[in-house]
Amino acid sequence: MQAIKGTHHSSIHERDLFWSKEAELVHWETPFEQVLDFSNPPFAKWFVGGQTNLCFNAIDRWLESQADEPALIWVSTEVEQEKIYTRRQIYQEVNAVAAMLAAQGIRQGDRVLIYMPMVPEAVFAMLACARLGAIHSVVFGGFASVNLAQRIDDASPKVIICADAGSRGGKVTPYKPLMDKAISLSTRPPEKVIVVDRGLFPFEPVPGRDLDYATLRKQFDGVEVPVTWLESSAPSYVLYTSGTTGKPKGVQRDTGGYAVALASSMQRIFNGQPGETYLCTSDIGWVVGHSYIVYGPLIAGQTTILYEGTPVRPDAGILWSLVERFKVNTMFSAPTAIRVLKKQDPALLKKYDLSSLRALYMAGEPLDEPTAQWIADGLGKPIIDNYWQTETGWPILAAQPGIEHVQTKFGSPSFPVYGFDVRVLNEQTGEDLGPDEKGVVAIVPPLPPGAMTTIWGDDARFVDTYFSSIPGRKVYSTFDWGLVDKEGYWFILGRTDDVINVAGHRLGTREIEESINSHPAVAESAVVGVADQLKGQVAMGFAVLRDSAAYADPAAAMKLEGDIMKRVDEQLGPVARPARVRFVTALPKTRSGKVLRRAIVAVCEGRDPGDLTTIEDPSALEQIKDSL
Ligand code: AMP
Repeated sequence: MQAIKGTHHSSIHERDLFWSKEAELVHWETPFEQVLDFSNPPFAKWFVGGQTNLCFNAIDRWLESQADEPALIWVSTEVEQEKIYTRRQIYQEVNAVAAMLAAQGIRQGDRVLIYMPMVPEAVFAMLACARLGAIHSVVFGGFASVNLAQRIDDASPKVIICADAGSRGGKVTPYKPLMDKAISLSTRPPEKVIVVDRGLFPFEPVPGRDLDYATLRKQFDGVEVPVTWLESSAPSYVLYTSGTTGKPKGVQRDTGGYAVALASSMQRIFNGQPGETYLCTSDIGWVVGHSYIVYGPLIAGQTTILYEGTPVRPDAGILWSLVERFKVNTMFSAPTAIRVLKKQDPALLKKYDLSSLRALYMAGEPLDEPTAQWIADGLGKPIIDNYWQTETGWPILAAQPGIEHVQTKFGSPSFPVYGFDVRVLNEQTGEDLGPDEKGVVAIVPPLPPGAMTTIWGDDARFVDTYFSSIPGRKVYSTFDWGLVDKEGYWFILGRTDDVINVAGHRLGTREIEESINSHPAVAESAVVGVADQLKGQVAMGFAVLRDSAAYADPAAAMKLEGDIMKRVDEQLGPVARPARVRFVTALPKTRSGKVLRRAIVAVCEGRDPGDLTTIEDPSALEQIKDSL
């Protein structure tokens, strides 16, 4: 790993030289004057004075060499449709959407919220925003009205683009009614809602507010919209993520730094070349989708596959059939998807010609060793576990075959990626730890190009949340535990905070608790993440009722549990629904009133709850055990 180490070293110690070279991978309309301005830490401004545009780099720049090559392949096993767009066709679609947004008054810096399933119109909408310098905020389709309303209030979008519905596993999930409900809950409603009507779920447009995408699209057919050149630090998008408070954080990304990080990582981490094909099975609502379904592959001159469907329909060979049909070179998925496949016929892994595929990358949650081994054996391809967060925008830890081929170790996302001065620190003293010592994974600022620049509208929260938790050091905390072994391989050992990871989806337990607590029968609740074979973790809820006698009858308790789950579904979406909600008369707390989550998790997982000297009432923990 000499070359990886060398690259990493120069990215930190010869920063200006290193990054000015990487910056050559993207088009700059105006060259930058300074590589990094870190005069106001921890705020970093990359490529100061340079002007560029994400849409130009993804589309226009490749028109000369690849206008008629496929650039976006959409496959939906949900609605049984497929469509291939060349770069020229994407150019036309994006221009038309940019024109329709401009006609609604969208200008540089305005926010556009996108609430869409995995359809090409969602990609066009994102790129159209980028073209205009408008800031998009894509909300994952699995989120429901309360989540949506919070995001609308925080981002105050002028326009929202949504679909009538999505579909998952053959079941239609309406989006438009959730959007209407969210807007009614919101204190900062948009002026216009543009609806992509897929004909999946009938709805009544709201007069004066709702506009039909297809009608507008026709109106602006053939219109070209000039690129708005943006200073490198101008925000490109805001993507909300869960934290330990009930209020989601709007992760803000810049323009130039992000373009450079993606172009660079597409070569050095994903080892790819222009003209290749990339399949990422994430969702455009997540950071992996932003970076490696939409922007990364397109900026790198590759073809991207947008897949609407599950990994097991029509059968568990669907993903591999896509690899064969479209000669996929790079694939990116999540451990949960592979764990789902593990339950299916392993012969399906061998049924298709996967000779085009170089490697399978996986991220979003810990990749357990048995799953890694199973898929590596089944595919006979390198499995590249990579570790990152919504905040960082691209991998912090990964093997980097574009720099050097190294032996990977199952269970480890390998080594620090260049640009990330990542450390394992003692959470109490802030000291750097040695081999095999567990501590908090932290990044010494400046964060590299492509990482978040701040929390949308709240610089103070950015500093307080991320740079103030490690004593004596102003470093960025990932809120993950980790260690580095004697050979230099990194391991991620779970969260230090109350964030849980269900099937690769990051959820704040506080948000779920708030939703449960909003039920009139509930006095208080605790939600914890419990180990699960398939999903990595599932949420388990424990609720104290206002009047437990009223629900003493098991049938009444069962109905209440169902009602509470339904409420969470409606407010936050099915991704946040706890596996069970159990009723107890008290939660195990410390004498100072803090819920002993770790002890609850241990009991739920059948482990020893450990040190209980601070517990106020030991019987509360017994009750948790009995309720399981
Ligand atoms: P998100 O921001 O939703 O992408 O979630 C980021 C969190 O997911 C990280 O802080 C980790 O807790 C977890 N995570 C992501 N990738 C990995 C990985 N390769 N191994 C272990 N944990 C991961």
